Amino acid sequence: MKCTHCKDTRKYKQPNNKERFEKLIDIEMEKSYFVNYDMAEEKAYKEVGFTIIDCPFCNNKK
Ligand SMILES: [Zn+2]
Repeated sequence: MKCTHCKDTRKYKQPNNKERFEKLIDIEMEKSYFVNYDMAEEKAYKEVGFTIIDCPFCNNKK
């Protein structure tokens, strides 16, 4: 069973500014079609910064 949010690391990167984060991904995906989602996400994380938290999606399923 894989958690797609943390890729089973149990650590989840929470963007410091979710609204801007999502907007940045949209912009990134739009301007270059060859960029995949992971790359766009990585770039957006760098831009807004993030906090590593315990994954809220799978930590409670133990
Ligand atoms: Zn998880």
